[in-house]
Amino acid sequence: MIGEFELIRKLIEGWKPARDVSIGPGDDSSAIVADKKRLLLQSTDLLLENVHFCKGWGTPYQLGWKALAVNLSDIAAMGGTPSHTHLNLAVPPSWSETEIIELMSGFKAMADRYGVSLLGGDLSSSPDLLVVSVFVNGNALESRVIRRDGAKPGDIIWVSGLLGSAAAGLELLKNNIVTDPQSELLNPFLMPQPEIELGTICAQNGSVNTLIDISDGLAGDLGHILEASNTGAKLIREDIPLAEDNPAYADLPDFDRFEFALRGGEDYRLLGCTPRSKFDRLNISVKNQLGRALYAIGEIESETGLRLISQEGGVEEIKAVSHDHFKRFDL
Ligand SMILES: [Mg+2]
Repeated sequence: MIGEFELIRKLIEGWKPARDVSIGPGDDSSAIVADKKRLLLQSTDLLLENVHFCKGWGTPYQLGWKALAVNLSDIAAMGGTPSHTHLNLAVPPSWSETEIIELMSGFKAMADRYGVSLLGGDLSSSPDLLVVSVFVNGNALESRVIRRDGAKPGDIIWVSGLLGSAAAGLELLKNNIVTDPQSELLNPFLMPQPEIELGTICAQNGSVNTLIDISDGLAGDLGHILEASNTGAKLIREDIPLAEDNPAYADLPDFDRFEFALRGGEDYRLLGCTPRSKFDRLNISVKNQLGRALYAIGEIESETGLRLISQEGGVEEIKAVSHDHFKRFDL
C-alpha cells in the first residue's frame, strides 16, 4: 500500500482553489479570506478506534480532550486563534452512552480553555469501531499567518518542548507496561497540550518564517517544511531536547530516547524557523510571556536533504520521514 502522504497527494490532484481560498490543502490548516485583513482558518482530523486509539487506553474524557486538542494544534501551527468546532461521532454498541457523555466533557473542557464554541455535528451508529471526526475554525490576520513554505537558509530551527514522551507513552500502553490513565508517563500521549499561546506570540512577533506542529515526529514534520520551502537542514544531535528518562522505559523493546525524539509522533510541540538575528528577541518574548524557552536545534540550509551533526563532528544524512498513521498499531 502506498503511504499516507502519497495517497493524499493523489486525492487532492486536480482540485482548483476558488478565488477566496488563500491556503489550500497541504498546510496545517487551510485558509479562506474572511474580510480585507483576516483569514478564516479551517482544519479537520479524524480519530479512529484501533488506528489512533484503543478502547481502555486512557479514559473517554481524555479521548475527547485529545480529539479537540490535536485539531487546535493545527490552528496554533498557523499562528491563529481557534474559534469554533464541529464534532461528528459514529458510535458502536461497545461504547455506552455514559462513556460518550464523558468523552464530550473532555472535549468541552479543551474547548472552554480556549473559548471555542460548538457549532454542530453529526451522530451516527457504527458497526464496531468508534469514529471521532473533528472540524475546527480559527482566524488570523492575513499579514501574520505563518505557513510551511517560508523557511530560508540561515534560519535557526527551534522546537518548543521536550520530544519523545508521547511516543514513549504510546509504547508503554501498547506493551501493557503502564496502564493507569492518570500516570504522568501517559499524560503527554493521552492529553496533549496545543500551543495556542505560543502560536499567537509567533504571529505577533513577526520573526517566525515558518511553523508546524509536531504530530508525525520531528524528522517527518521538519521534512514537510523542507519540502514546502525547497530547502534542506542540519540538526545538531546534542541540542535536540529529549524527554526525561524514566525507569519504566527500560522495559520497552527497542527504546531509544533519541530515536523517539526524532521520529516518535504526537508531541504537538511547535517547530519553527526564525532568522538568526531575530531568534534571541523571539526567545526573550516567549520566556517573558510563557515562562519557558525555545530550544534551538539546527539551521536551514540551501542544500536539500536533512543532515544530523554530532558535536564530535560526525555528519549523517538522515531521512526526513514521518510516522505513518496507516501502520500505527499493527493490529
Ligand atoms: Mg499539523
